[in-house]
Amino acid sequence: MSEPRPLFPADPKATYLAHAGAINAAIARVLAGGHYILGPEVEAFEREWAAYLGDGYAVGVANGTEALELALRAVGVAAGDRVATVANTVSATAAAIQQIGAEPVFVEIDVTTMTMSPGALADVLTNAQPIKAVLPVHLYGRPAAMPEIMELARAHGAKVVEDCAQAHGAKIGDQRAGTWGDAAAFSFYPTKNLGALGDGGAVFATDATVADRVRSLRQYGWKPRYVSVAPGRNSRLDELQAAILRVKLPSLDAENAVRASHARRYLQRLAGGPWQLPPADERAKSVWHQFALRSPRRHAMLTHLAAHDIHAGVLYPVPLHHQPAYACEQKLPVTEQACAEVLCLPVHPGLTLADIDRGCDELLRWAEA
Ligand SMILES: *Cc1c(COP(=O)(O)O)cnc(C)c1O
Repeated sequence: MSEPRPLFPADPKATYLAHAGAINAAIARVLAGGHYILGPEVEAFEREWAAYLGDGYAVGVANGTEALELALRAVGVAAGDRVATVANTVSATAAAIQQIGAEPVFVEIDVTTMTMSPGALADVLTNAQPIKAVLPVHLYGRPAAMPEIMELARAHGAKVVEDCAQAHGAKIGDQRAGTWGDAAAFSFYPTKNLGALGDGGAVFATDATVADRVRSLRQYGWKPRYVSVAPGRNSRLDELQAAILRVKLPSLDAENAVRASHARRYLQRLAGGPWQLPPADERAKSVWHQFALRSPRRHAMLTHLAAHDIHAGVLYPVPLHHQPAYACEQKLPVTEQACAEVLCLPVHPGLTLADIDRGCDELLRWAEA
């Protein structure tokens, strides 16, 4: 019998190979077309991505971090402003805030969903110092509690920017993540649910003025061309990445459905084990960017899985308020415990149900021992 293949948290090469013919043809088309930056492919992708999300405008940018930064700037965040976000996220979320010279204020998370707690947000918003914007993260593909967050933010005059880097296609009720706030930021890093073959990102906004500001900011603050109306910068999406994203977008829902079917298998087979499974949520439909288990014994589980060539991920081991770049005095016990306990099992669409079963078998074997 041959050795079982190693399983990883993401497999961008498998994603490429699944679309190789069409991607190669799209690349050849761009190379022959002679437009390499902000051309017809970017324009077409912006239209297609906006149509997929809902009523509004998409603006392609260089990566997810800059999508967050430009979205925050476009809704009015400036140096010295305070932005409420969470600490159990990738550093990029806080980096975007810092890039503006604004200050991240970390909000405690909900103990079961691990996304921003509306109750904790209410406390932060009623605090003495005003919050200019709220930046919830749809972590692991699960949308944050947007109806409650929007209501609180509106009541306190704060803007809302959604970090959608892990939530392409997720929904709350019938409405996509990314269409709730004043703006949303997407990353197309190769391991995301919709990934390019290089860096890429986009801002989505329902308001044309916000989208226009991002369009100007991404290219030297130009409006019109050759006239800078704001201190600009360069954060452009290139034609090759846009063409590749256009090939992959029509398969996003099908690939998310494969992730969901893998997640259902984990939920069925791992029920009742010595760990905490992701909670069921009727309202918020996850796109399973990650399948995050929780256990105080995650180290032993990771070691056992790795010995069988199953490589789980730890996203994210150190909460932002404990990292040197963002260190602050805040106490966030729920966040700290989540960061100490999560481990993310491979759930990407390049895996088969047999791969998922192998992961379940090994975890159940570990639990028995
Ligand atoms: C990936 C990611 C980002 C940053 O995206 P880049 O394209 O790597 O800049 C931001 N926030 C979250 C939650 C992410 O997962």
